Amino acid sequence: MATQNQTKKSFEIAVIGGGIAGATLAVALIKHGIPCQIYEQGHGFSEIGAGVAFSPNALRAMDICDASLRAAFDKVGTHNQWPQKHDVYFDVLDGMAAGHGDENDKGTPLFTLTNDQGMDAVHRAHFMDEVSQVIPKDRCHFRKHLDRIEETGGQNGRVKMFFHDGSTAEADAVVGCDGIKSRTRQIVLGDDHHPSAPPSYTHVYGYRGVIPMEQAVAALGEERAQNSCLWLGKGAHILSYPVDGGKTFNMFGAVVDKGDWPSQTELTLPTTREEALRDYADFGPMVKKQFELVGENIDKWALFDTGDHPVPQFNKGRIVLCGDAAHATTPHHGAGAGFCVEDSAVLSEMLADERVRSPEDLAACFAAFDAVRRPRGHWLVQSSRRMCELYQDRAEGVDQKKDVEKIRKEMEERFQKVWSYDLNAAIQEGKEDMHKRLQSGASSS
Ligand SMILES: Cc1cc2nc3c(=O)[nH]c(=O)nc-3n(C[C@H](O)[C@H](O)[C@H](O)COP(=O)(O)OP(=O)(O)OC[C@H]3O[C@@H](n4cnc5c(N)ncnc54)[C@H](O)[C@@H]3O)c2cc1C
Repeated sequence: MATQNQTKKSFEIAVIGGGIAGATLAVALIKHGIPCQIYEQGHGFSEIGAGVAFSPNALRAMDICDASLRAAFDKVGTHNQWPQKHDVYFDVLDGMAAGHGDENDKGTPLFTLTNDQGMDAVHRAHFMDEVSQVIPKDRCHFRKHLDRIEETGGQNGRVKMFFHDGSTAEADAVVGCDGIKSRTRQIVLGDDHHPSAPPSYTHVYGYRGVIPMEQAVAALGEERAQNSCLWLGKGAHILSYPVDGGKTFNMFGAVVDKGDWPSQTELTLPTTREEALRDYADFGPMVKKQFELVGENIDKWALFDTGDHPVPQFNKGRIVLCGDAAHATTPHHGAGAGFCVEDSAVLSEMLADERVRSPEDLAACFAAFDAVRRPRGHWLVQSSRRMCELYQDRAEGVDQKKDVEKIRKEMEERFQKVWSYDLNAAIQEGKEDMHKRLQSGASSS
């Protein structure tokens, strides 16, 4: 359990949502002895049964939040299986060509992206199981769907939350970690019909698959199955890495969609392996084989983000947004969850600052958090879109066949911007800005 330090704080934080953003924030607040309660609409902390990769910036953020997060990650995290691939983030291959040769043709990398850590991934549900054990049960309130907030509706001007089951709760501030369809985002924007309130369809959908490793090895060979690969293509791409200590092959394919997403309410819809194979008809055998391994009936995932109308402000008074609620991104940087943990690290350190003591200090803290985190969140959303275009031969000014070196350089630069983020500098910047705001009595940005 996270250490509960003595607190000098005379305020309590309500965290809405128990996904990666809400859970990691709660762990960090508990470490600092900051009173907090979590309200989650589901029956518990749950995640889907697919993989999620955490890059070096995310692991550094876990270290800042609390050692227990890093321990959880280390317990269930999986690296590339081959020692010589330890620093490989992705072997990048031509997905249209690979496998057309003889049976030994497993594809030759066009180039390899590396970092000190290589590919580190977890099975989402296993990671959340570990993290949730760190959060005391009496802090967790499940089956609580936030409907609305009265900013000063509680006793002594506290924030009052209204839940779908008719119950209410009060806190001195609310952190909205309620994901891509965030209700808190609508509340911060002040209008359900604000253009930034709903996420928008990026006209790309995805397929996810988790396959027993021995089947993947039989189909793809050890090198490609047991180590991370990114297969480029035209109008689609696919990537994979091992999870579950190497027992499971986790893959994700994304396809450009000329049409609109057919559902107003559902982000996933059932489809078939045959449809996926049709989408990848022009790809080489090494890619097609991956779809032949998934079940006959699979789901198609709509990729929405906040890129068309970036959220103009993450804060409003004593309410602030974190994670996908603030900056919902497509998965092409493999960084949305990592940015959730970054948010948790920065916000918790700012709240722990000794100059933040009473409820009156919280608006300045949130305004400074918005100022330091919003540019990076917005950048990720746009850069992730660009990465998808690079992977799928749709990037303006780049021809996938002729410009391999140009693609490598741009991908490398964009990934480096994710990986090399100086979290301590960001925390310092946020605190300095916050101090100025506290001194001047100004809270808005
Ligand atoms: C296909 C795919 C692959 C990805 N791969 C990666 C990857 O490899 N690496 C990476 O870093 N990121 C990845 N991401 C992004 C990452 O999954 C998200 O950025 C991250 O999970 C968002 O976490 P969150 O806590 O902000 O939101 P969520 O996980 O959506 O959690 C929000 C929580 O809030 C609850 N909630 C919602 N509304 C309410 C309400 N009104 N009241 C109470 N509770 C509420 C929900 O039940 C949920 O538990 C991927 C995303 C996709 C779609």
